[in-house]
This record gives sequence, structure tokens and C-alpha cells, in this order.
Amino acid sequence: MQIMDQAAEQIRLNIQFIQERIQAAAKRSGRAGKDITLLAVTKNVSVPEIRTALEAGVSVLGENKVQEAKEKFSQIGPAVAWHMLGHLQTNKTRPAAAIFDCVQSIDSQRLADALDREARALDRQMAVLVEVNLGEEEAKFGVPLSEVDSLAHYVAAKPNLRLRGLMGMVPFTPEAEITRPLFRSLAARFQTLKELLPRPEFMTILSMGMTHDFEIAIEEGATLVRIGTGIFRARDSRRQE
Ligand SMILES: *Cc1c(COP(=O)(O)O)cnc(C)c1O
Repeated sequence: MQIMDQAAEQIRLNIQFIQERIQAAAKRSGRAGKDITLLAVTKNVSVPEIRTALEAGVSVLGENKVQEAKEKFSQIGPAVAWHMLGHLQTNKTRPAAAIFDCVQSIDSQRLADALDREARALDRQMAVLVEVNLGEEEAKFGVPLSEVDSLAHYVAAKPNLRLRGLMGMVPFTPEAEITRPLFRSLAARFQTLKELLPRPEFMTILSMGMTHDFEIAIEEGATLVRIGTGIFRARDSRRQE
């Protein structure tokens, strides 16, 4: 399956535009653009579109469902980094451990136990982030800020998991400035947590910011931003798979 030249060109332009904005925001936070990882969120995005993004310089992909990731992984392969962003059920940890380079959505001890077990069975070290629900919304997964330290210590002690940082989820609001203090509080927690953990050098990923608020997240210290619609298209016009 080929995508139209025009659609591919749009993806390339979108990526270029996002990268320029990442550079500028990084500069405002006293960092370089290369210090920020652009993760392309590819849920509901077709393989040809993903290939276009990879050709345009993206090297990290984020998926929300194990089954969908598995199908795409079988076509695209392990040369790019695959991150799990969605809620992971313990009964899906086996395929998840085989596909993903990093699971950003660790939100319970039980999930950490299950993923550690599957990673051990595959004789691998699995990079993970603890997911934090910054808005403390009922409908979202992730632990509240008050529980981050205890879950992070639990995860860091798992022999086959490697705690690499935190992933922040904030409430969706068109007024992105509302989220700035939430990003700031997560960045502060990330710094203090690092000093408490036995292997602070592993703690390099602060995943926060999406299409509508990634510049604010970078200004507040994000090292990885997760961009879906800003690269691929408006959600509404997404083709049904
Ligand atoms: C969908 C999704 C994103 C990307 O959102 P956009 O607004 O499309 O950029 C980022 N993070 C998670 C966890 C998501 O589910």
C-alpha cells in the first residue's frame, strides 16, 4: 500500500515544523534540541505513514495497544525504538516484553511484577517509566504524585526492569498554560527522585507533553515529547482501520 505523495509530504512538513519548535523550546530552557527526543505516537496510523515518518528522521514510536503494536512490529521490525504508552494489562506482558524497548505506563506493583517476570524469561533488561496521573482524573491511568516515590523504588529494585524515568499525563485543556504548574511539579519530583535512587544515571527520561502542550513541557524540563496528531493529522479525519 502506498500513500499519496501529498499525504507523505504533509507528514514530512509536520515533522520539520515540530522539530523546529522543539529546538526553539529547548533553547528557551537552556538546552539543545538534540537533548529532546521526539516520539511519534502511531496509534491508528498506517504502516506506510509510519515509514514516511521514519524516513523523515523519527526513530522512536509510541503505541497504545499491544495487538496493534505487534502487527506493525512484524512489518517494521526492531531497528526503531518501540514504546508502550497505553495501559498495559498483566495478561499482555508476555508479548509486550517481546516487542517494546520501553514501557512508559507502569502504574502498579502488580504490573511491574508481571513485566519483570516476562523480561527475565526473555533474559533481557526492560526499560520502564512510572506513569503519573498529574490531573488525578478518575478516567486516566497512572499513580498520583504522592505515590510516585514508593512505586519508583519498587520498580527500581526489580532485577529485569530498568527504571529510566517518569511519564506524565495531564488533563486535556485547550488552555495549555493551565498544565505548566503540573509539568513543573513532575520535573521537580523527577529531580528529587533521581537523588534517592541507587542508579540515578539510568534516570534520563522525563516524558511529558503532547501536540498541544509540548513546548510548555520542554520549557519545564521534558526530555521526551509524545506527538501524534501534530505529525499525522487531525484525529477526526483518521481513516478507520
Ligand atoms: C495519543 C497519545 C499521545 C499523543 O497525543 P496527540 O495529542 O495526538 O499528540 C501522547 N501520549 C499518549 C499517552 C497518548 O495516548
